[in-house]
Amino acid sequence: MNANYGHIFYSPTGTLQITLNGPGCYYRKQDYCKMCNYGGNNTITLLNAVQFVDDAIKQHPQASRILIGSNGSILDEREISRSIVSAALSRIHDCSIKDIYIETHVNTITKESLKYLKSELPTKNITIEMGLESSNAYVLQSIINKDLDLSIVRESIELIHNYNMRAALNVIYGLWYDEASMQADFIDTCYWASTRKADEIIVFLLHIKPGTLVYDWYIDGKISPPSHRDFIEILPLINDEVLQKMYFSWYGEREEAINSDGIIPPSYDDLEQEKVMRFYYDFMRSSSGSERSRLIYQFIHNH
Ligand code: SF4
Repeated sequence: MNANYGHIFYSPTGTLQITLNGPGCYYRKQDYCKMCNYGGNNTITLLNAVQFVDDAIKQHPQASRILIGSNGSILDEREISRSIVSAALSRIHDCSIKDIYIETHVNTITKESLKYLKSELPTKNITIEMGLESSNAYVLQSIINKDLDLSIVRESIELIHNYNMRAALNVIYGLWYDEASMQADFIDTCYWASTRKADEIIVFLLHIKPGTLVYDWYIDGKISPPSHRDFIEILPLINDEVLQKMYFSWYGEREEAINSDGIIPPSYDDLEQEKVMRFYYDFMRSSSGSERSRLIYQFIHNH
């Protein structure tokens, strides 16, 4: 598999993430967002995309869901052509995995783009995964420089539901200078997402990556990596209904990327990494909010 065409990540919980190498995020290039620094180049072609997706699926026959993205928004034609996306989706259409996640910017959600997805993947359960990060205007503007209209996020969720698809919002824990504000922002954002009817809240623990605005804050000594302990200890403040919608990404499972990209990960403090990973894994494998609540209390009680 040629790494220039994209990258593959298989999560222990069964998600096969396929990222096609497009030219990079339009919003980043326009300086409308300085959140993630995915990078990007133009190397993928239509034929490469077919081969790349086929190889990824073949290598991970145990996967239970696929997340497909580019280095930004896979539904943004300024970033990646529809012919390449269609070629990749045709291979996903033909595979046996039913649950498909599409990673894209909220501004790309239109009737046309949703109809397009339905026509490409008519037999799949489609979830659209979009970056919210925070529901706080100060965090969006000043800490990550993300130009996001929250009313459009709400409208996009409604539109996605009208097409019988699910909506997932990415939320970040760790975007503030001090612990109390960080925690309050995270809890507010999770409830904001849930009351706007997001079906899934995908929680990212902040990893501080070179090339992002947060990294500049870090270099200036104004922001620190979050702590797993602090994060887990605020989870009892979240009700079962919201807990049931949570899933985790970048919770410590991506050591290879962290090491190769000079990323500063969250801290484990006095906790054993293996036990923290086990907690996140069990949480995601459990089926109900009440069971997840029980796992949180058990972990806090034992550590
Ligand atoms: S978070 Fe989304 S919009 Fe912002 S730079 Fe990354 S891919 Fe682009």
